[in-house]
Amino acid sequence: MIKIEITEDIVETFYNGVKDYIRLDVFSKKDKVYFTQEKIKEIITCKPQNFSKLSDEIKTQIINTKKMKLAFIGSQEKSKNKSGNFNGYNKFSTKHENEYRAYDLAEKLNINVCPYCNKNYTYTVIDKSSKIKKKQYTRPDIDHFLPKETYPYFALSIYNLIPSCLICNRTIKGSKPFSPETHLHPYIDSFNDIHKFSTSKPLSMCNKATDFDITFDDASDDADLLKKAKNNIQDFVLLPQYNKHKDIVLELKEKQELYNQASISSILSDTEVFRDRDETYLKGLLMGTSLEDKDINKRPLSKLIKDISEELDLL
Ligand SMILES: [Zn+2]
Repeated sequence: MIKIEITEDIVETFYNGVKDYIRLDVFSKKDKVYFTQEKIKEIITCKPQNFSKLSDEIKTQIINTKKMKLAFIGSQEKSKNKSGNFNGYNKFSTKHENEYRAYDLAEKLNINVCPYCNKNYTYTVIDKSSKIKKKQYTRPDIDHFLPKETYPYFALSIYNLIPSCLICNRTIKGSKPFSPETHLHPYIDSFNDIHKFSTSKPLSMCNKATDFDITFDDASDDADLLKKAKNNIQDFVLLPQYNKHKDIVLELKEKQELYNQASISSILSDTEVFRDRDETYLKGLLMGTSLEDKDINKRPLSKLIKDISEELDLL
């Protein structure tokens, strides 16, 4: 899991963009007293660390679940727009050229690779060349970290919306019970600091895929984070998936044999085009991805390639 960087500016724009999508008119008089605009803001901008406290508070209000779902998730039917029935998260997740939607959030967060698996591209493509109409082509799936069926009131809470790939969101995670207390949360935690990819046998002893397995080594001594990371590894089926990429690990080993320290130094000093580059850049180029921590979310499999390159003493 790769940490998502989010700014106050993005949160504020999101709040202003979606606050009127929540259909408060479905609630009773008593419920409306609770759902003030201030409370709606608290819900929309609730930090993951406060999910549990706020959820407990909302539950004490004993609000009808059907109404809660209609207000925060909304009806799926666009044709009911006229009656004001098309609202909530379902409105946010639908394309619209001029109104604030999931495309706008995804574009701002700029998540090129899925933060859950670091395997699949999740970029956002919007064509803004036409002055009249912007064309929205593709964006990440939006996972509800706390499933919206169980926590409908967090269906439009920005820190509960995780841009991710379709496989992680729909095929693998679905509505599994996740929480910031049991799993790493992409807006708070960085898996990169907690676990490192490794191999079950030293790669010097491996020549083919059946010689080894891809594994994880602990890279942190924080027991709580390690426990959450283990849940992520298990619930996103990361090891069986990554073991489909042994070919890449074997290629890294071959590249290490092709480019030893002496050849890297000579490329840097003798090749005009690399005169202003450093070793890390050149090694990343040879391995096929940037090997710097800050770039780990820019290309698929960057973490695997970086960790194995380190193990091979390439870095
Ligand atoms: Zn994914």
